[in-house]
Amino acid sequence: MSSAALMNNYGTPPATFVRGSGAELWDDRGRRCLDFLCGLAVTGLGHAHPAVTDAVAAQAETLIHTSNLFANELTAEVVETLDRLIRSGPGGDAEPGRILFQNSGAEAVEAALKLARKHQGRGRHGVVSAYGSFHGRTLAALAATGQPSKHEPFQPMPEGFRHVPFDDIDALVAALDPSVGAVLLESVQGEGGVVPASDEYLQAVRQLCDERGLLLLMDEIQTGLGRTGAWFGFQHAEVQPDIVTMAKALGNGVPVGAVWARPEVAAAFAPGDHGSTFAGQPLALAAARAVLTEMQAIDAPATAARLGAFLTDRLLQIDGVGSVRGRGLLLAVELSDEARAGRSAAAIAAACLEQGLVVNGVTPTALRLAPPFVVSEEQLTEGCSILAGVLEHD
Ligand SMILES: *Cc1c(COP(=O)(O)O)cnc(C)c1O
Repeated sequence: MSSAALMNNYGTPPATFVRGSGAELWDDRGRRCLDFLCGLAVTGLGHAHPAVTDAVAAQAETLIHTSNLFANELTAEVVETLDRLIRSGPGGDAEPGRILFQNSGAEAVEAALKLARKHQGRGRHGVVSAYGSFHGRTLAALAATGQPSKHEPFQPMPEGFRHVPFDDIDALVAALDPSVGAVLLESVQGEGGVVPASDEYLQAVRQLCDERGLLLLMDEIQTGLGRTGAWFGFQHAEVQPDIVTMAKALGNGVPVGAVWARPEVAAAFAPGDHGSTFAGQPLALAAARAVLTEMQAIDAPATAARLGAFLTDRLLQIDGVGSVRGRGLLLAVELSDEARAGRSAAAIAAACLEQGLVVNGVTPTALRLAPPFVVSEEQLTEGCSILAGVLEHD
């Protein structure tokens, strides 16, 4: 399946998918699978979505790349749409912000961290983030990631990062000193096990940041663009961050990330401060434009809220499902010890794949489910029966 010449960075893959359509994938053995993972919350509009496919194909025939030395016809529409959606929640800013494109999540986090440092100035470069968080694999994003085991092989980490327990405002207050200039949080910790922040916590963090002159950075790379039942996860708490990172769903699989910032914060970046050869190229923005148009047409947040409630209800009827947590179509299923019978959630996910359902083990005891917005209730029900069958065995 994969080559011996490939670095062994991801372990042995359990399947080779060769084709997809909507919420379905087919592997090289002709097996059909329901995709309840979306390539890690990326393909929200499903596979081979005609609007995205057509936009990418047409752009590839026209112009793929010119670099940021030149303007791009698509930029204005994409940044205006993103800015409008980011400020669309109750409590959203009246004043438009500004966007910087990147190619991935980690790069968006790096750009956000550099922007925060430049804005806050020397001596206030410290960033507090949460244990259990995930912000990417590049060195600064990794340092911000609150998982010490992921730091260990790569020590020393870049300086200036500290971590506090998630959803605990007292711990955050206690971690502040004059060197801290920013707080970086996810509205739902995705890789950390699909753990939502409470609305009260995010409101208290916003207030604390206002009082202390700290920037609030929200990492919406996994949660952004409808998945939690709001355009952005922080909108549930009716707060507006100073900086927002996004990526995964933005290109429906075409790599594109972005950073949004309030205008006064965004103004800290001057020409030469940051850059990326590919970022915001015509091909990526053609995908992003098609994704944003289609997500608004289907009202992605309302769709995620409705289908997420349906799925949660079905999951809770399964023997062996202890509890379901998360928001919208970003869910974790906590499996009972009895149903796991000594198996890890990863082993259960592998058994689901054998039966035609793609999910992943997000903690040793929980599965993550992130189906696309285009999934049908019939497909959600079918996926639940596959899971029920896997949990029944032994
Ligand atoms: C996936 C993820 C990242 C990293 O994105 P990459 O594109 O893999 O670099 C960062 N933050 C969050 C919250 C994520 O879910």
